[in-house]
Amino acid sequence: MKNIETLVFDLDNTLYAPDIGLLENVRDRITEYIITRLGVSREEADFIRENYWKQYGITLSGLVELKGVDPDDFDAFVYDIDYAAKIKKDQRLIEILSGMDKRKIVYTNAGRRHAGIVLELLGIKDCFDQVVAIEDLDFLAKPRVESFEKFIEKTSINPQTSLFFEDSTANLNTAMNLGFKTALVGAENDSFHASFENIYELESEVYFT
Ligand SMILES: [Mg+2]
Repeated sequence: MKNIETLVFDLDNTLYAPDIGLLENVRDRITEYIITRLGVSREEADFIRENYWKQYGITLSGLVELKGVDPDDFDAFVYDIDYAAKIKKDQRLIEILSGMDKRKIVYTNAGRRHAGIVLELLGIKDCFDQVVAIEDLDFLAKPRVESFEKFIEKTSINPQTSLFFEDSTANLNTAMNLGFKTALVGAENDSFHASFENIYELESEVYFT
C-alpha cells in the first residue's frame, strides 16, 4: 500500500478489543430503552433493535426516523454505563498512534459523547485530528453509502489515499467500493487490503511502504 496519507479508524471493537464487553452493555441498554420509551415487551424490543440495526446500520437511526425518538434522550439513557470499569488507559496504543506521522480520523456510528469518553479513557483522544460521530453525519450510519459520502464531505479526505480500519466487514465492503484501502481488525480475511489480529499490528510499517 503506497501513498497512504490518512488513517481512518472505526472506534468500538477496533480501537479496543471486543472482549471488554462494552458493546454488550450498550446493546442491553438499547433494549431497555425501547421497552421503557415505546412500551413494548422485551421480545418486541429485541426485534425492533435488531431490525432497525439491519435496516439503518444503527438502531438509533431507525428510532429517530420511524418513532420520532429524541437522540439526546436516547444517548443519555443508553450510554449511562460504567465506562471506567471497562476501559483502561492503553499506553501501547498511545505510543503507536503518536508515532505515526499521518492524518488520523475516527469515524464512528456512535454518538459524540460516547466517542469522547472512550477515547479519553484509552488516553488516545489527542492522537486524532478529527472525530466524526453520528450527529455529524445526520444519523446516517455505516455501512450506508450516504454515510461514507457525508464522511468524505466532512473531512475532505481522498479515499484512494486513505486506509480504513474496521472490525465490520459490511462497513469495509462499502468503503472498498468507494475506493478506500481497507484493513479488517480482529480477524483474518483475504478480501481486504490488510487484516490485523488486533490494532497493535499497526506498529509494523510494512502496511505503508
Ligand atoms: Mg466497530
